[in-house]
Amino acid sequence: MTGQDVKYFHIKTFEIIVTGLVQGVGFRPFVYRLAMQYALTGWVQNTNENVRIRISGSPADISLFLEALKEEAPPASMIEAIAVQEIAPEPFTAFTIQHSHNLSDDITEISPDIAVCSDCLEDIEKKGNRLDYAFVNCTNCGPRFTIIQDLPYDRAGTTMQTFEMCPDCRREYGDILDRRFHAQPTACKRCGPQYELFIKGRRITGEINEIVVRTSDLLANGGILLIKGLGGMHLACDAFSEAAVEKLRNIKKRDGKAFAVMFRNMESLKRYALVTPEEEQSLTSWRRPIVLLAGKNGSGKHGLFQSEPPPGAEDQDSTPLLAPTLNARLNLLGVMLPYMPFHYLLFKHLKTDAIVLTSGNFSSEPILIDNGQALEQFSACTDAIVLHNRDIFNRTDDSVVRLMDGRERLLRRSRGYVPAPVRTTHHSDGILAFGAELTNCFCVGKGQKAFLSQHIGDLQGLETTAFYEQTISRFLKLFRVKPSLLAVDMHPDYISTRTAENFPGIPLVAVQHHHAHIASCMAEHHLDEQVIGIALDGTGYGDDGHTWGSEFLLCDLRDYTRVTHFEYLPLPGGDLATEEPWRMAVTALYKTYGKEFIHLKLDLFEKIEPEKIALLTHMIDRNIHCPLTCGAGRLFDAVASLLGLCHVATFQAEGPMRLEALVLDSCNESYPFETAGTIRFEATIRGIVNDLLDGVSKKIIAAKFHNTLISVIFEGANSIRLSTGTDKVVLSGGVFQNRYLLEGAIARLTANDFKVYTHAAVPTNDGGIALGQLVIASKRRNQPCV
Ligand SMILES: [Zn+2]
Ligand SMILES: [Zn+2]
Repeated sequence: MTGQDVKYFHIKTFEIIVTGLVQGVGFRPFVYRLAMQYALTGWVQNTNENVRIRISGSPADISLFLEALKEEAPPASMIEAIAVQEIAPEPFTAFTIQHSHNLSDDITEISPDIAVCSDCLEDIEKKGNRLDYAFVNCTNCGPRFTIIQDLPYDRAGTTMQTFEMCPDCRREYGDILDRRFHAQPTACKRCGPQYELFIKGRRITGEINEIVVRTSDLLANGGILLIKGLGGMHLACDAFSEAAVEKLRNIKKRDGKAFAVMFRNMESLKRYALVTPEEEQSLTSWRRPIVLLAGKNGSGKHGLFQSEPPPGAEDQDSTPLLAPTLNARLNLLGVMLPYMPFHYLLFKHLKTDAIVLTSGNFSSEPILIDNGQALEQFSACTDAIVLHNRDIFNRTDDSVVRLMDGRERLLRRSRGYVPAPVRTTHHSDGILAFGAELTNCFCVGKGQKAFLSQHIGDLQGLETTAFYEQTISRFLKLFRVKPSLLAVDMHPDYISTRTAENFPGIPLVAVQHHHAHIASCMAEHHLDEQVIGIALDGTGYGDDGHTWGSEFLLCDLRDYTRVTHFEYLPLPGGDLATEEPWRMAVTALYKTYGKEFIHLKLDLFEKIEPEKIALLTHMIDRNIHCPLTCGAGRLFDAVASLLGLCHVATFQAEGPMRLEALVLDSCNESYPFETAGTIRFEATIRGIVNDLLDGVSKKIIAAKFHNTLISVIFEGANSIRLSTGTDKVVLSGGVFQNRYLLEGAIARLTANDFKVYTHAAVPTNDGGIALGQLVIASKRRNQPCV
């Protein structure tokens, strides 16, 4: 036995397969550095399906290596599984990175965009090629999905292809030990993209410091700016200036909906909002979503979100107030922290601690990405436009999350989350699911991965429809999917349903809206069995042609039985009733009290003309333009209007949001309701009206109403459990964006030994529908309905 042999005698070799999001996030260099650290030999290789590692060394070193592989993985990677297998010892002489291999027609995952990392932020402070350079990035951070045009993920397949690397950048790019090894969008001042400032359509400067200084001054003086970002353009203004916020609202032609705000840092944010540790984690994660936060009310300092400063506030506290109309006078605001180098550069000069940063578009259009269009549409109405010459290929909005029951729940899934797939229990190869009509996302299936698109928006605008069709064809190309089965909503008039006609000759599955909601949540939790599905929603086309939205289903991924639902009510004026909650209030009152309702001494009758109310009851009597609805959202509308919170909505779901905002947490009371046949709320409405007439606080009424719905959910689930033995409850639908309701329902069901499943990674609103359509279509393909 030679010395060499003795050494190998102790050496073991392992093959390690890492799956998940492990490419384009600096994983191979990370593996290389670990191997160096533990003096191991072997190789690492990207395939189109995973990362393969072969490693030789002492068992002790290998086990340390494996531990570090899990514990220290790059922040933006997401390891799904690590398979480790011992193989015959192989005496490697070094550790190397091998060339990529394609194993099959499968594809690697594409990383979402990643917020600038702290190392890169240090680089922009240092003398050299990246001092104040606003496009700094490395393998741990920077643009990904927004710039990718095709796979494999290398520079030639991104919008960075037009920028040729300078010798310094090229050297870093080729150096395995450098942080920019194979960082596809890497660039520096000398060779990379640049910003430019335009005022009234005229180019002013391309010098970054001048741009930042002038931009900050304009913002401080109430100016409105259009700024090109990562996935699209933003409109920006000082968040403390009511005049600027109003001006911005006029430019956007936007109703009363809240604007998102970017704070300088966590410290400044905490002066205004209450932040739980979980919320802080979301805010500072590399995904940097918009997080819905509650204002700091009643904590000594006057709150961020209240509409008026309390008397004498200026004397007690010098903290300035945010513009009161910023958040539609709700005690909830969408907040985010800087995520691009440009944001950091801007805040270095900005005097204000927070700026409005809302999508740059006119309402109903998708977020703007094109420089020419930006100059054409916004030169006249803004004070300045800041553009850059790195093209945005895949448009993405900022994502929106809300922390509920201690978990991050995605309400809008876009930048930082897309295009990471959702793993499904079944193969959904070749399935293209078109989604719903509003808050649209679509979904494509590839193996056991479901790729949900970024937030597309409301399909009723021409521009949005074009964006929708373009993104569908891009996803099919990018993920190499040839559609073999289409899944659509049952609604015959949805634009998404009609878009399926662009794919003639391919079989089509029509899926009921609320079944898709439940299936979407089931897919997220890998459930494939019979469950109790409770979908509370605004609208969705039902089997009987009526508008559904309060469905208690006994269902699996293939089929469903509708066990019960809220009683149908006429929706006088159809869609108009969704925009005018007072119509639902009148409908509910008429249903409860008959014609006598008009004699009730309600606030509502002072706000709405008697002729309008008379016309409405006439429509109901004669059944003129009164489609039937059982949507839970409409019940919220009715109660919001009864309480005088919202008679005519200035944005979607305004009534329900105002109602939730009012809830007094400490109230445990509720109202009666009936469950014979369908679920009926006459007794609830009577209770609310009596409380109103008795002068009971609206905060208590709002709480009692919410508690009533929590009881409805529990009793509905319980009666299905009693007759079937099923104890798994799946909650879905837009109504579960309501924190009080979701948390209350989870608590009540869990306390009664139900297993409760709710959305987190996939939106509970219509943005999650496409995933449900996809898994139902997949299940029916395997096991057709009889
Ligand atoms: Zn970086
Ligand atoms: Zn360079």
